[in-house]
Amino acid sequence: MRYISTRGSAPTLSFEEVLLTGLASDGGLYVPESLPSFTSAELEAMASLDYPSLAHRILLPFVEEAFTGEELREIIDDTYAVFRHSAVAPLVQLDHNQWVLELFHGPTLAFKDFALQLLGRLLDAILKRRGEKVVIMGATSGDTGSAAIAGCERCENIDIFILHPHGRVSEVQRRQMTTLSAPTIHNLAIEGNFDDCQAMVKASFRDQSFLPDGRRLVAVNSINWARIMAQIVYYFYAGLRLGAPHRAAAYSVPTGNFGDIFAGYLASKMGLPVAQLMIATNRNDVLHRLLSTGDYARQTLEHTLSPSMDISVSSNFERLMFDLYERDGAAIASLMAAFDDGDITLSDAAMEKARQLFASHRVDDAQTLACIADVWGRTEYLLDPHSAIGYAAATQPGANTQTPWVTLATAHPAKFPDAIKASAVGTTAQLPVHLADLFERSEHFDVLPNDIAAVQRFMSGHLGA
Ligand SMILES: *Cc1c(COP(=O)(O)O)cnc(C)c1O
Repeated sequence: MRYISTRGSAPTLSFEEVLLTGLASDGGLYVPESLPSFTSAELEAMASLDYPSLAHRILLPFVEEAFTGEELREIIDDTYAVFRHSAVAPLVQLDHNQWVLELFHGPTLAFKDFALQLLGRLLDAILKRRGEKVVIMGATSGDTGSAAIAGCERCENIDIFILHPHGRVSEVQRRQMTTLSAPTIHNLAIEGNFDDCQAMVKASFRDQSFLPDGRRLVAVNSINWARIMAQIVYYFYAGLRLGAPHRAAAYSVPTGNFGDIFAGYLASKMGLPVAQLMIATNRNDVLHRLLSTGDYARQTLEHTLSPSMDISVSSNFERLMFDLYERDGAAIASLMAAFDDGDITLSDAAMEKARQLFASHRVDDAQTLACIADVWGRTEYLLDPHSAIGYAAATQPGANTQTPWVTLATAHPAKFPDAIKASAVGTTAQLPVHLADLFERSEHFDVLPNDIAAVQRFMSGHLGA
């Protein structure tokens, strides 16, 4: 399998190279040149596979040139063994036609563990083989940082530096990052906001000359193809539980950067019957407005009760646009150049294509709290605020009632105690046993000024030999 850039003019890469790269050199994102696809008979045969076996079946075609079947099997088994539920991604029924897919049984209680636990292991295997070391650098306002650190915890060939805005991430999220300690893990609390952190990361990727020879930066945000790839699996897993290939399900996905839902789109192209993909957004509704009007317009960031979905643009949407424009890289390059200068409008043909599979719905904070309270009242099931946005979108009056709905439950409610309190359900979510002492564990982080030279000096001074 080869990988091509959405902007058409970067070199075609192998899986191994794509894993070690961030953005393509033309500014685009890497996507597979072609997709494997499964027939109805093959899907029937896959219905009995457990999660790791299914993951192996689905992911092998993407990585075949870098890993043998046995090597991949070992990595996948090791990855999903750390999840605290033996089904890995259990489906829970909440109403007649409503299910939630619990994606929060990984080490940091959010769906990002599915991809980052795998990514850390894939990277480590490749680096060992090549005798190389790399540096992971990322900015986080919450879930990505902790999941990335947990994914790289035991990787000897990776130094990881995660920047977060000092004093501006929730205590649970901060502690999930700062209580893991290894000589290769560095939490940098920056005296600035999230955008400052993000800007330093972007600038460092553009000019990596502060690193010694032979070291390079690897991206762990969802521009890294391996993250999207890993997320395809659970759409198949849920669909097969609910009757695929003979019955299609609809999926409602709490969406920020469009990585998770894009994996659902790929699953549908690979043969999984998908009735609809619902883009569920909070008040940062750039994608909802796009689906409604065809206009793609940046917005100012709003802070909501669902912080992991607080974004001003959704970078992975470019991967879908590439398909909507018949994989015309030059067209995407000129659209994205225009987008750098202001708002853009997508063609009618592109929007028509998008609406065949995608729908969208916006849920504000009050509706999020009402959904948490309503579901608790009827089922005593506690949704986290992100998952509640997905559930509210799946159960809104305009939603299809003929198909089974799967809402992706992207985080555990104990990660967001303030929202649970505000929903007035009169109960609190307990942290799982393996994290019960999170508030007693000692934290490790360095506070640095909002200054890129200071950050880069710190990094080059703290690299492993
Ligand atoms: C990251 C995240 C999202 C958004 O996922 P995208 O792939 O960025 O669309 C939703 N919910 C939670 C809890 C997250 O951590």
